[in-house]
Amino acid sequence: MASTYIHNGVLIDGRGGAPIPDAAVLVEDNRIRAAGAVTGVPRPAGDVTLLDAQGGYILPGFIDTHVHVMTEGIDVIKDMQTPFSMRFYNAMNHLRRTLEAGLTSVRDAGGADAGVKRAVETGVIAGPRLQISISALTITGGHGDGWMLSGGEYEMFPAYPGMPDGKADGLDEVRKKVREMLRAGADIIKIHATGGVLSPTDHPEFTQYSPEELEVIVREAAYRRGIKVMAHAQGAEGVKNAVRAGIHSIEHGIYLDDEAIELMLEHGTFLVPTLLAPLAVVEIGEEGGMPDYGLRKAREVMEIHNDSIARAHKAGVKIAMGTDAGVMPHGTNLREMGLMVNIGMTPMEAIVATTRVAAECLGWQDRVGTVEAGKLADIVIARQDPLADIRSLERLENIAVVMQDGKVVKDRR
Ligand SMILES: [Zn+2]
Repeated sequence: MASTYIHNGVLIDGRGGAPIPDAAVLVEDNRIRAAGAVTGVPRPAGDVTLLDAQGGYILPGFIDTHVHVMTEGIDVIKDMQTPFSMRFYNAMNHLRRTLEAGLTSVRDAGGADAGVKRAVETGVIAGPRLQISISALTITGGHGDGWMLSGGEYEMFPAYPGMPDGKADGLDEVRKKVREMLRAGADIIKIHATGGVLSPTDHPEFTQYSPEELEVIVREAAYRRGIKVMAHAQGAEGVKNAVRAGIHSIEHGIYLDDEAIELMLEHGTFLVPTLLAPLAVVEIGEEGGMPDYGLRKAREVMEIHNDSIARAHKAGVKIAMGTDAGVMPHGTNLREMGLMVNIGMTPMEAIVATTRVAAECLGWQDRVGTVEAGKLADIVIARQDPLADIRSLERLENIAVVMQDGKVVKDRR
């Protein structure tokens, strides 16, 4: 048995309580055996690797509940000219950068297949542990339908063996499509309940799947050991349809009204804000790497989005950190925490949203999300105090150590 003793750090364990100065964490194999004040976690006798936190901050590995590991940037012309298999090689780089930024688990919201997940699980490539959705279900002409007015098609995640095409209309088709995604290895079903920013022929406020279609999708997924459904949902009507149908998490939530917020509280629905997404579209768009329709819609929604998430937070909706990484460069995920603080969350609330609550959103609260005895040893050591400056977490040089599953995968001490 391999033991590691992390000491000389301040513990912020992800549960939201006061930081514990002079803390220690004992890791045995891939699990946390004990964590807390050093007096309660003595260094064991015998063969143990010491890991000096050097007065830094010991945190749970961070979790992003909305990423697209198979893509980066939205450049239609460039993507059309890139050999198909390059996406897999590029993804190796995306995954490594995500891990080195301190994210030890992610939920892929479309594009990653069972092979990518297995490559990480078996150690073929380095990356955060993955929950995958394969490809998102979308209506014809909806967000996710790559048909262009030219008659050409640009699919961000084209179909191939193991990656069914997501387009499905009507009760029979959506039922079959859910089954196809599950057959391909989906851990969660992703659907587009409304239009979006980066789709050529719709608008974020357009309602897409009907309540009846949503119910069939949720029910069909639930038959398989309770598989959950995450919904890209931006307009208020689409959000409400999704929540009423029993959707597990609302992604983006740009136009939440009071009734939508009430419904989310009532159903215990998670909200994944992705505040970084429209901001990144605007930033990247100004450099010319974004289609015009995306840039225009992102500018239109940014302020509305911030206000919507602020009201949901105030009302007490469960917020799990998610970014839409892939729209922005992988590894910049923790910028989202600064944006969460901008809309009124405390730094501690932003940390809990990116650790414990994000783990709950993934259904992985029994294994990750906090630094507690029994959890998998996914641990980050940051040099600076994130409670004093939440934005310190977005600086890669500040993420001194990343441990995943008990193994140090980054050490910049
Ligand atoms: Zn997304």
